[in-house]
Amino acid sequence: MFTYIDPTVRERLESQGKLFQIDRDGARVAPDHAAARGPGIAVLGPIGLPLLLCGHEFEVDWYACVRRTELGKIEEIADELRAQHGQASFATLASSMAVNSVLMIGDPGKWQNPLIRVHSSCLTGDVFGSQRCECGPQLQTALRRIQEDDQGGMVIYMSGHEGRGIGLWAKAATYLLQDGGEDTYQANRSLGLPDDSRDFSDAGSLIRFFVEDRPFRLLTNNPKKVEDLEAMGLDQITRVKHVTGVTDSNRRYLTAKQDWGHELSPEDIA
Ligand SMILES: [Zn+2]
Repeated sequence: MFTYIDPTVRERLESQGKLFQIDRDGARVAPDHAAARGPGIAVLGPIGLPLLLCGHEFEVDWYACVRRTELGKIEEIADELRAQHGQASFATLASSMAVNSVLMIGDPGKWQNPLIRVHSSCLTGDVFGSQRCECGPQLQTALRRIQEDDQGGMVIYMSGHEGRGIGLWAKAATYLLQDGGEDTYQANRSLGLPDDSRDFSDAGSLIRFFVEDRPFRLLTNNPKKVEDLEAMGLDQITRVKHVTGVTDSNRRYLTAKQDWGHELSPEDIA
């Protein structure tokens, strides 16, 4: 974290407008404003990222986003560690903080109805290319679809959503239970964990900030994701079907999602 290196860097980034704060309603707040110490999101960016996807090159603006309450606690402990010269503990400290990302494609100033994907992190699918789920192809296809869209849009990558919110360790356990015959939701329940504990409120605040009160299109097959965002007052959402990466290895997983309420037709999964 930048604040671990040198707290003066923070002030420099703030003065450049590259570190800023938004509140839960997606409104920008001044750093010295009292609200800047309350609940909300600290945002770092834009940071240019040249992407290479399937042989196709394009540029996105990356924003790193973290809850202020989490960042605040981490910074307090970091200050203590710094005083005690506990440098080696910084990595452990930062690893517990969920830093979400916005990947911005195109010019938000020109958006009328941008295309948005709110993507839950999946190490095995997104990074390793696992076909037990279809997360990897969904992420890559979303970036391509947004890049090819007239208006562009953004991907919001939710880093704390591994295993629909149960974390990577528990997700690994659910894979073993699934190998014993349970489906993806039953396996969560067998561990005493909810079917889906993902919190989309940070995504809602970020959409509010970047899209403001314009309508937008959301790439998802999950009506619950739309409902969660609508419950935050984002009521101009058009759902856009996002089926990709169906293979023999994940057909059973997709059928469970379909039974759970995802809008997938038999042809989608065939
Ligand atoms: Zn996945």
